[in-house]
Amino acid sequence: MTRPEVRIYEVGPRDGLQAEAVVVSTEAKRRFISLLADAGLREIEATSFVRPDAIPQMADADELMRDLERRPGVRYPVLVPNSRGMERALAVGADAVCVFTAASEAYAQANIRMSIDESLAAFAPVVGAARERGIWVRAYVSAAFGCPYSGEVDARQVVSVSERLLELGIDELSISDTVGVATPADLRRVLGALDAAGIDRDVTALHLHDTRGTALANLVTAMELGVRCFDASTGGTGGSPYAPGSAGNLATEDLVYLLDREGVRTGVDLDRVLAAAQFIAGELDREVSSRVGRAGGWPR
Ligand code: MG
Repeated sequence: MTRPEVRIYEVGPRDGLQAEAVVVSTEAKRRFISLLADAGLREIEATSFVRPDAIPQMADADELMRDLERRPGVRYPVLVPNSRGMERALAVGADAVCVFTAASEAYAQANIRMSIDESLAAFAPVVGAARERGIWVRAYVSAAFGCPYSGEVDARQVVSVSERLLELGIDELSISDTVGVATPADLRRVLGALDAAGIDRDVTALHLHDTRGTALANLVTAMELGVRCFDASTGGTGGSPYAPGSAGNLATEDLVYLLDREGVRTGVDLDRVLAAAQFIAGELDREVSSRVGRAGGWPR
């Protein structure tokens, strides 16, 4: 098979479902993850080892991972907030882990109840343990384009946090538009600042939200600037907790549709993504919210 030109990093089972009011059963999550692998997705963020009382939607993380069917060639990253989370991830044989901090001090305090400094200190042993075992590590830089609490975010802050994460030894940054406020000008500004700091495009992924309808415009801009990994959520799950009723994560089907029509290889099959989107919408007891999920692909 030819190598995909763009990596699609699926976040639906974790970032999507953790923000949904309905708690999906462990069995249904396994089925969803299996359908995503059927669709050709090769990186599927499966769950989160945060405290079960903090995020009840992810309380079954240990059980889910213990019995998850792992396909060859597919990576199943899990979110780990600290060393305790890392112990749980190691106990179930996680092959990839993600840590998460923010470019905004106010966002870090509100979301993870730590300062940025404290979060980096908490990740150091996690990243160290992962490195010793050859486990791939990704880091989310949340609120990189705007903060729901403090407003505009300086690109220098994104650079500073990114540099410190790379110094810890992580493999990939996911620069996140958590509130879905970015436009192409913001992409040029932030990616330009990362370039100026010498941060390699190969370690930079983008996590776009479609809250204000700008995700695909941002995506095209980012591709022109050389970004080759994008996060997306099948079914467009994960509506923004800061804008009730609004679109959240960029939907995988919207992304795959665009890239297919642009002639960009992803290795992901649109019809099968749509089948997975239908499945999870059924489990959430609602309609698929994405545009391509509603309209279907083209040509039929
Ligand atoms: Mg998200």
